[in-house]
Amino acid sequence: MPIATVNPATGETLRTFEELGADGIERRLAAAAAAFRRYRTTDLPERARLMSRAADLLEEDQEAVARTMTTEMGKPLAAARAEAAKCVKAMRWYAGHAEILLADEEPNETEVKDSGAARARVHYRPLGAVLAVMPWNFPLWQVIRFAAPALMAGNVGLLKHASNVPQTALYLEDLFGRAGYPEGCFQTLLVGSRAVEGILRDPRVAAATLTGSEPAGRSVAAVAGDEIKKTVLELGGSDPYVVLPSADLDRAVRTAVTARVQNNGQSCIAAKRFIVHADVYDAFAERFTARMAALTVGDPMADTTDVGPLASEQGRADLEELVDDAVRLGATVLCGGGRPAGLTRGWFYEPTVLAWITPEMRIHREEAFGPVATLYRVNGLDEAVELANDTPFGLSSNVWTRDPAEQERFVRDIEAGGVFFNGMTASHPALPFGGVKRSGYGRELSGHGIREFCNVTTVWHGADPDE
Ligand code: NAP
Repeated sequence: MPIATVNPATGETLRTFEELGADGIERRLAAAAAAFRRYRTTDLPERARLMSRAADLLEEDQEAVARTMTTEMGKPLAAARAEAAKCVKAMRWYAGHAEILLADEEPNETEVKDSGAARARVHYRPLGAVLAVMPWNFPLWQVIRFAAPALMAGNVGLLKHASNVPQTALYLEDLFGRAGYPEGCFQTLLVGSRAVEGILRDPRVAAATLTGSEPAGRSVAAVAGDEIKKTVLELGGSDPYVVLPSADLDRAVRTAVTARVQNNGQSCIAAKRFIVHADVYDAFAERFTARMAALTVGDPMADTTDVGPLASEQGRADLEELVDDAVRLGATVLCGGGRPAGLTRGWFYEPTVLAWITPEMRIHREEAFGPVATLYRVNGLDEAVELANDTPFGLSSNVWTRDPAEQERFVRDIEAGGVFFNGMTASHPALPFGGVKRSGYGRELSGHGIREFCNVTTVWHGADPDE
């Protein structure tokens, strides 16, 4: 894939970039290694000062960087502004919390004695240069939620961003540079995916994190496995959105629309499969469909737009194939189901609701990465849990019920990295984020995220027999 900014609202190529060659990659790996040698010993107040400065600069740049994101990948401008603001918040959160999250841990005194030690502690040290392979859908947030904890932990970052968001990628390197980070602490590598293996195998790279599709995750994990390097994988999702009879139906419907079409439907944690109890199915289907059909699709720069274009022509073609396959196998189109009339340029797709989904349909098992919702009718809790888990993915889940016993059933049985009751899944700096099954492994955000790329060091002092 060429490294270029192509406006998804028009299909127009705005800028192309030359890929970094072998010499350029070598220079940057050497710079990362040199930077790590010094940066790893900086104290946490100094790291917090740098991170806070970067957050302040990003806050000042909010409008400009939001416009860059919208131009490169098509999310509505208001959502791009919100994404930048969320990054600022996460950077400040890690600047303020890293010292507590990385504080030495003192194991239980009796157990320390039992190990033969006078004293012992657990100490968190950085690992080194971490390669971050990142997707285009939240081009700023995906990177910041890696970079803020990684840099606060004393690691240095190498960003291989998606090839269609090069300007956002370059902005990030510039941001950390202007904030005063020493040279080499955070670098953007403008390379295609074929260069990833060589970079990851380089001994100067300690670990990798990848957010993206299953094939990309498999490929990076295989190389990292061969090199015995730590990885975190945040892959796709097909999150269930379960609505049970005790739900506040109005709120469940309103939230369902946002949960499905946020980011033009291209979010890993978007609700994708709507599993509704028979008692409320007809009412939910009618109101949900009416709201989906009423959304405004169009220019992502316009304040009135709810849903912009898909990020790439290929992405739209993949979505069209999934919908066409479902319809061929008997799904009913309640609204949408094609390209919006009148939008002939760009890669737009109508907000779509499909009902009567069956397991033979590809959309039942694959991720629909666009504004397409699938509706299922279930007769009880057991069926809802079973269907919610009937997917290769396990990122998050949403359940609408006011019944505590039903809630506990999902806490116990849902195969996902999260369960959000009476609301929609959203990431927050203080809450761990990640999945199970084909959605990946490891966690980002919170204390769990910052410790993923740490050397958890046991410090043990033998007891003096003369004491
Ligand atoms: P993608 O094609 O996998 O691309 C993601 C990144 O991986 C890009 O930088 C891409 O580079 C690179 N890449 C692709 N193939 C690779 C390979 N074989 N080896 C090494 N790197 C490779 O995914 P996408 O289409 O951009 O993003 C959509 C996917 O990401 C969806 O499945 C979505 O659910 C998932 N996602 C997950 C999360 C989460 O937190 N779990 C968050 C957001 C998105 P190029 O651009 O150069 O190809």
